[in-house]
This record gives sequence, structure tokens and C-alpha cells, in this order.
Amino acid sequence: MRYLEIVDIYERIEATTKRLEMTDFLVELFKKTPKEIVDKVIYLTQGKLYPDFVGIELGIAEKLAAKAISMTCGVDQEDVEKHLNEKGDLGLVAEQLTKSKRQATLFSKPLSVKGVYDTLEKVAKASGEGSMELKLRLLSGLLADAEPKEAKYILRTVTGKLRLGIADMTLLDALATAYTESKENRVLIERAYNLSSDLGDVAKTLAEKGPNGIKKYRVKVNRPIRMMLAQRLGVPEEILEKLGGEAACEWKYDGERVQIHKKGIEVTLFSRRLENITLQYPDACELAGKQLKAEEAIVEAECVAIDPETGELLPFQELMHRRRKYGIEEAKEKFPVSLYLFDVLYADGEDFTEKAYSERRKKLKKITRESERLKLAESLVTGDAKKIMQFFDKAVEAGCEGLILKSRSGTYQAGARGWLWIKLKRSYQSKIIEPIDVVIVGAFHGRGKRSGSYGALLGAVYDKEKDVFATICKIGSGFTDEDLKNLPSMLAPHAIKHMHARVLSEFKADVWFTPAAVIEIIGDELTLSPVHTCAYGVIREGSGIAVRFPRFTGRWRTDKAPEDATTVEEIVEMYRAQLKKIEEVQ
Ligand code: ATP
Repeated sequence: MRYLEIVDIYERIEATTKRLEMTDFLVELFKKTPKEIVDKVIYLTQGKLYPDFVGIELGIAEKLAAKAISMTCGVDQEDVEKHLNEKGDLGLVAEQLTKSKRQATLFSKPLSVKGVYDTLEKVAKASGEGSMELKLRLLSGLLADAEPKEAKYILRTVTGKLRLGIADMTLLDALATAYTESKENRVLIERAYNLSSDLGDVAKTLAEKGPNGIKKYRVKVNRPIRMMLAQRLGVPEEILEKLGGEAACEWKYDGERVQIHKKGIEVTLFSRRLENITLQYPDACELAGKQLKAEEAIVEAECVAIDPETGELLPFQELMHRRRKYGIEEAKEKFPVSLYLFDVLYADGEDFTEKAYSERRKKLKKITRESERLKLAESLVTGDAKKIMQFFDKAVEAGCEGLILKSRSGTYQAGARGWLWIKLKRSYQSKIIEPIDVVIVGAFHGRGKRSGSYGALLGAVYDKEKDVFATICKIGSGFTDEDLKNLPSMLAPHAIKHMHARVLSEFKADVWFTPAAVIEIIGDELTLSPVHTCAYGVIREGSGIAVRFPRFTGRWRTDKAPEDATTVEEIVEMYRAQLKKIEEVQ
């Protein structure tokens, strides 16, 4: 299969303004892909070479990539960089410069998907002495054979900037249509994905073995499971009603969620986005290695920063010190962490994802040797709303965000945000709405003091049902001068020419972005708005819901994919809860 065939589809995906067309193009792509390389086609389309948990990144520095262009096209590197400054996208620069080179080269051979993949794999794996030269040679070799538009996508891929804005769920839809007749298989395919977090492997199994192969998927150590997430509600009585009158209430610790995989003495940690973060927390690995009694296990915990002198819990922000490649040992001493275990998904050959919460908790207790630094999450089983609020106050006093109330009979629903876990957060208790996570889908140029940067960003929440991002606010406050200076360059990789096919907006932004970056904002309240598309027509005909006085909290939610942002459904719940609160006060 020629690489050009994929590239043609990428161009069409990029140009469309219709979300459904994206799926059609992908179906077309899978139908013409030979079975044995469908995994590679999936990874390439996601801008990577492997699933995230493998931890091999492609992202090579722009400087090196620019050098490869300069070598292949016979243009000074400075000129390449000048073009880059003008266009802000090395892919476009490569496309343009390759066009002029084309006339000069006669002996290029067509690129195949496998050839491109294998070369990129060599680029990603090259390390140690002489690796820069090797990467350069490999990349310029590819460019020498590339058509201009192939060069564009190769460059975007190697620099980690191929962002077509295709959701995993869209890929699953397309796979179901391309490889199976019945829509019902979609559920099976999604289950396999939730248990393996590996779309390429799921696609290949499906293409080669059909739905029966997919049915055989099982939980496996060192292959992360997509995490179960919580819904939110503001009133304990309502939560109890949803959970059948009784709940297992656990403290909601304010740290980083980790999925711990233990195999013998080896421990691997995966983040909420299923990236391998083992190296950031050597101390957590040591704790889990020593204190989990099962030989093989998959458990989940919140990793929380603690004050080394007092042992008190510290807020999430303190974990920032661990987000680095070097100096981890020093950070480990200065900013230690504790682990609070709250679930077990697998232990010594037994899959616990289909078992009830109460059984899982019992097992978790059994396989854990608790200590000051590693314990089970505080919990209380009750059907009494008053007791829940007392437990809530205790949690908040200890530095937690609130509680997560869990159904005692509920299974572990991998990859789902359902009603078996419901969070009750601290800020529900105040007038100001609790923080929400919005996706940046557009921006407006700044004026006066802000000229050269953005005056406001267009924020959107995720409409899961329609798989689109609906606008909820324009955010202009909360940014520091530093933030403002950096915004244009931080968002540049996501900039596109028109509104993205998965965005619903009545506003005409000056700059549009592929839905990718997620930020946290707070606001005063939720109001009805004729101009925002979030929950349009749900509460009142002709109105959507907007955030009043939104401001940036300073927190980039890099741990969240755009589909993990706050959902329209959650906003509707929050709006209703707010109305109720107002009624109660009156
Ligand atoms: P938030 O932004 O509110 O932290 P989220 O979208 O990251 O939420 P949710 O599933 O909505 O994730 O909320 C649960 C999160 O709370 C988990 O991802 C986890 O990091 C954290 N957490 C802390 N303590 C617990 C606990 N006892 N049980 C489950 N999750 C917990």
C-alpha cells in the first residue's frame, strides 16, 4: 500500500467540516488497507508508532527536522527556519520546499506505508552516540522519495504534530463498519479496546480473526486498562438515590491517578492517559513492589504529594516537581508521595473487573500490607446523607477534594464515566461553580496591551452523544503576562484554517484549533445563553448554557484528552443542581 493513499485520506479529513464524513473516510481507508498492516495504519493516523503505554515517542526536535529538509531540498537551514517562522508549521514548509526540489530529482521511488513506518521506527529507536546523524540520514532519505504532500505529513508525524482530531471512538466506529456486518459488534470492539488500550492490536485482531478473535480479549499485566471514571452530583440524597440507597464513600484524594501493574518485583505505573510514568515515581514503585502481596496484580491508587515533615497531604500542584526527566532522585526526597489504593482489577490470574466493588475492596485489603505511606483509601459504607456530609467534611479537612461515592454492587466499567461512581466535590458547597475542564477550540486576537497575543480563548465542552465540542464560554481572564506571551506559540500546533468538523460554534473565531488542549476554568455560575451551543435547546428552546465570568485557574489539564473534558451532560446536571440550590435558598 502506498503512503500516498493514506495521505489523500488525511487531506480529506483535514478539509471536511462534517463530522460524519470523517468516519466515512476512515472506513474507506480501512477497506483498502491490507490486513497485516492495519495496526500500523491506525498508529500512523494517531500520529504515533505504538500505543501510548509503550512509551516510545517519535517527537524529534524541529531543528533536526529542519536540517533534514535543508539537506534534501538543497536550501539553507536558515531559510527553512525563516519559512517556519512565517508558516508556523514545518509540514507546510516541507511541502513547499519539496515541490521545488521535485523538478530536480528523477530517481525517487514511491513510498509504501510499511517503508515509512519502518523508517520512522528506526528514527524513534535510534539512541546513543551517532544517533542524531542516523536520524537525520533516515529522515532525509524518506524526504528524498516523498511527494510534496507526503513530506507534509511525514514532517508533522516526526515532530509529534500530526493532529487530525480523530477521537478513538470514531476509529472504533469506522472499524466496526469496515470489518463487521453487524453494529452489535461495536460493543465487543469497544470492550476489547477498554481492556487493552491498544487500538492497533484491536484492529489487527478484528481484521484477521473477526469478532470471535475480539471476544477472546482478556486483562493482562503491563497492558493498561482504560480507567473507570466518575459522574458528578451536588446533593448526597440524590447520589444515594442513584446508588440504590447505600454507598461506599471514599475520600477523593487530590493527586495523580496511577494504575499500578506488578509482575514479580517489577512495577510499572500508568497515568490517567495511560502513559508509562514509572520513572517519575520510583518511590511509589518501591512501595507497591514491597507492599502488594500478590505476585501479579493490577491495582489503582491516587498518588499524593505529602509534606515530608508532617506527613500531611499536599495539593495536586506539588506533583509538578515530578514531571521531569532528570533530578527525580532529588525531587523524591524533597517532595515525597504516598499511595492511597482504591481498586483492584486483577490479581494472580483472576480478573476482577467483572466483580462487584465490595468483593474488589475485600481482595484489595487482602493483598495489601498497609503502612503510613501506602494505604487503602479511607472509606465508609452508609445510607445516611448526614453521615456522608460529616465524612465529606473530614475528607476536606484532611486536604482532599471531597468524596467519591461508589455502588457496592457495581463492576469496574473500564473506559466509562457511568453512575456507579459519583463524585461530590468541595466547591459544590460554595456559590462559585466548581472547576470545569474546557477544550480550546478557537481564539480571538488581542488588542491594546494584548496585541500580538490572544484577547480571549473559545472554550468548549464535550458532547459525548454527538461526538462534538460545543462552546460554553470565552475566556479572557486568569492569564498571567507569561501565559499571554506563550499562548500563541503553545496553541500554534493546533491551528487550522477553518472551524474543526467536530466543533459546534456560533462564534466566528479569529483562529480555529483542532480540539486538543484542555484547560481548567472556574466561573461564577452557569447561565442560559443564546450564543453558546452547549446543551442548546435542552433547558430552554433557543438557548444553550454558558459560564458566567469564566477565568483560567492556571491549570493545563495535560493529563486529559479532549474527550475527557467536562461533558455537556455534566453541565446540564450542574445547571439543574444550581437551580435547586437557588430554590432552597429562596
Ligand atoms: P477530576 O478532574 O474531578 O479529578 P477526573 O475527570 O480526572 O476528575 P473522575 O473520574 O471524574 O476523574 O474523578 C475521579 C478521579 O478522582 C480519579 O480519576 C482519581 O484521580 C481521583 N480519585 C481520588 N481518590 C479516589 C478514590 N478514592 N476513588 C476513585 N478515584 C479517586
